Amino acid sequence: MNKLENLSSESNLIADRVFVRSYLDKIPENRQLSEQENADYESKIIALLAKKNAALVAHYYTDPLLQALADKTSGCVADSLEMARFGSNSSATTLMVCGVKFMGETAKILSPEKTVLMPTLEATCSLDIGCPIETFSAYCDQHPDHKVVVYANTSAEVKARADWVVTSAIAVDVVEHLLDLGEKVIWAPDKHLGRYIQNKLGAQGDEMLIWDGACIVHEEFKLKALKDMKHLYPDAAILAHPESPLPILNVADAVGSTTQIINAAISRPEQKFIVATDSGIFYKLQQAAPEKEFIMAPTSGDGATCRSCAQCPWMGMNTLQNLYESLLNESNEVHVDLKLGKRAMVPLQRMLDFKQDN
Ligand code: SF4
Repeated sequence: MNKLENLSSESNLIADRVFVRSYLDKIPENRQLSEQENADYESKIIALLAKKNAALVAHYYTDPLLQALADKTSGCVADSLEMARFGSNSSATTLMVCGVKFMGETAKILSPEKTVLMPTLEATCSLDIGCPIETFSAYCDQHPDHKVVVYANTSAEVKARADWVVTSAIAVDVVEHLLDLGEKVIWAPDKHLGRYIQNKLGAQGDEMLIWDGACIVHEEFKLKALKDMKHLYPDAAILAHPESPLPILNVADAVGSTTQIINAAISRPEQKFIVATDSGIFYKLQQAAPEKEFIMAPTSGDGATCRSCAQCPWMGMNTLQNLYESLLNESNEVHVDLKLGKRAMVPLQRMLDFKQDN
């Protein structure tokens, strides 16, 4: 990256932070429901799911109450790749996707014949916001000799512009596959995951161009505070999601997607883990390895961009209440233009086929 690009990258980042902050300020705080209210909503949702032949598909970062309900109703709690796969294989005619906007869109692209609902259509993602189609497409046009690889956390339009869509579970393998074929790659939008892949594969020069986006939750994990915590728990292993900054990943004992973090917690010999990803994952971690102890990695605290650190504010917009209302009224339906969906399906199908082949 030359100096000019560096300067523009820094000012973009500041502009992005201001934008994300103003966006988050508009999101209303959720009211805490009583135990009785939660129980009432749960039983009404279970009845509606059966009546409407609907399945609940929840991401690991959503409220544990939603994850438990998805488990209880034979739905799915997973990372974005498995959520998409579950949705398209499910016999349900309606999918209720608890997560953020791009997850609902991906479910609709993979299952255009199904009704896809979400508890809210307002839940988005800083990576998606930070990669608008017009600027991104113009950037791709400037580098026609590069294959375009985008993370799943992007809009349907950005996916349709890409050659490949990947999740963090297969990002390294797909980029390695392309570099082995002698291809050059544009990676978007997460710069931390991009740099992690670049370092791991030793990509040089313009072999891998990296878009300047970031996850507001993972970006707040701080190395000094993590090292201080490691002194307190010297026998704990550090598990980190690759959307975290490189200094965090460099000291981690295992780096991987949400599913890979859960698998590492099960298979590794340590009894304690410091976990650098959204705290929603603790529900599944404790379920998967109940005898082990999980500690939240420290974030930068009050001054952080995210409203509640280590908790995605957009994932937190999914509640039992708005899930129930959406299912009852069949509101918050996700629509993706059919032609756009067909174009986005091409790189998405490559992702699904690659996962099956590897
Ligand atoms: S945790 Fe980060 S990457 Fe995931 S949805 Fe929230 S902002 Fe996006």
